[in-house]
Amino acid sequence: MVPPIVMTIPEIRAVTDAVRQQGQTIGFVPTMGALHEGHASLIRAARAASDYVVVSIFVNPTQFGPHEDYAKYPRTLEADQLVCAQAGADVIFAPRVEDMYPANSFSYVEVAKLGDHLCGRSRPGHFRGVCTVVMKLFNIIRPDVAYFGAKDYQQARIITQMVRDLNVPVRIAIEPTVREADGLALSSRNRYLSPAERAVAPRIQQALQTIAQRVAAGEVDTARLESALEAELMAIPGTRVDYAKIVDAEFLQPLTRIDRPAVIAVAVFLGTTRLIDNLLIGEPVGR
Ligand code: AMP
Repeated sequence: MVPPIVMTIPEIRAVTDAVRQQGQTIGFVPTMGALHEGHASLIRAARAASDYVVVSIFVNPTQFGPHEDYAKYPRTLEADQLVCAQAGADVIFAPRVEDMYPANSFSYVEVAKLGDHLCGRSRPGHFRGVCTVVMKLFNIIRPDVAYFGAKDYQQARIITQMVRDLNVPVRIAIEPTVREADGLALSSRNRYLSPAERAVAPRIQQALQTIAQRVAAGEVDTARLESALEAELMAIPGTRVDYAKIVDAEFLQPLTRIDRPAVIAVAVFLGTTRLIDNLLIGEPVGR
């Protein structure tokens, strides 16, 4: 079945209210569209665990900085509908910007501390935009479980923290990063890469693996590991390193030694395209 596209808040509320009244559970996958196999894996996870699956497609303006790619972010609704159909979604919620952010909206959601480093530092206001839109979507859809990808590790941790701190009645499920055969993490932004950039992009993941091997071999000094990581990334032709950090896996704070679960997290510009990736060292925490 091709899932219908619902565009208004009252209509999606009517749909999800009816589902709930029948005693069915709702799994929810928030996305910005330009769907790929990473998104499909989240939808399949929702399909396997819930009676009814909602996918939202909304390119959220409040999470883009003034010089970022909001205007040119890929919008591929027809193809997205097919991905949703194949992965087993029941309905797509694709609201208009003016319905999500009517004139004279003044409220937002901000999670302190966890956004101090990594993407939160490079993209001021980004996670405030993410948290605000995700909270709005949770309030509109009222899912039982919401699915996020480990590829956006900081985002997944921040949403988990938000839900815990604000007693939002939803369970957050974090699913593994889906990669190309050569290791590149799938991303809607990969389509911006030139053939030459695409050819070298897997070296981002390889750099993370190289550092993880050094940790496995006993190196725990994060300053040494971070400079080795940066050197690996800078050796990729056409790159500019935005950040290359090792932080604790729970609160995403800098570490001097790897003495607890940690995340190696990077953001790299390949030409004008900003790609992120990460690698968890130790057991998942804070879920
Ligand atoms: P986006 O459309 O980029 O905002 O992403 C929507 C959701 O899909 C987020 O929870 C992402 O973490 C997740 N996602 C994006 N890429 C991947 C991937 N390669 N593997 C797993 N999840 C992903």
